[in-house]
Amino acid sequence: METTPLRALADRVLAIGFRCSRCGDCCRGTGTDGSLVLLGREEVERLTRRLGLPLEEVAEPYPDVVEFRGARCRLGWALRRTGEGACRFYDEVGGCSVYEDRPHLCRTYPFMLDGDRLIVSECPGIGGPLDDVEALAIASDLILRRGAEEEDARAIRERLASTELRPGEDVLIDSRGVYRL
Ligand code: SF4
Repeated sequence: METTPLRALADRVLAIGFRCSRCGDCCRGTGTDGSLVLLGREEVERLTRRLGLPLEEVAEPYPDVVEFRGARCRLGWALRRTGEGACRFYDEVGGCSVYEDRPHLCRTYPFMLDGDRLIVSECPGIGGPLDDVEALAIASDLILRRGAEEEDARAIRERLASTELRPGEDVLIDSRGVYRL
């Protein structure tokens, strides 16, 4: 029987193993990758709708700045953080307060796909017990995340190429539009 890409990816995840230890390091921003969670425009809109919060309480401009035609460009959004760098939805007692609605990145951490390459971030949960159903769910979320990120990156590249930018201005560009900051 032919192995599907989903099954093959689930088998790779299963072989590595993972069990969240609920240490909270990734959400607090104390882990190696901090709590910087890239959000696509669709995710920003889904979260604002589901949580009934304004955009600025859900997301912040992605911190990296790219110089393009003399303008300073932020290419997308990140999940809003507290002044200490923790995710604003992390609760020290209860953990993630938006667990059912958490973004793609949180659903798949510490795994990510770069093309077909499976990247694993440092995390105390790596190597933990994982059953087949959980591995399939992670693999499915990884494939969804890769598709959403690739689509978002393509739309941002197109918008960047077709936007008139003024030297010295600060802008945020996402898949839906250009925002002067
Ligand atoms: S949304 Fe939830 S899982 Fe994601 S970083 Fe914030 S607290 Fe952690």
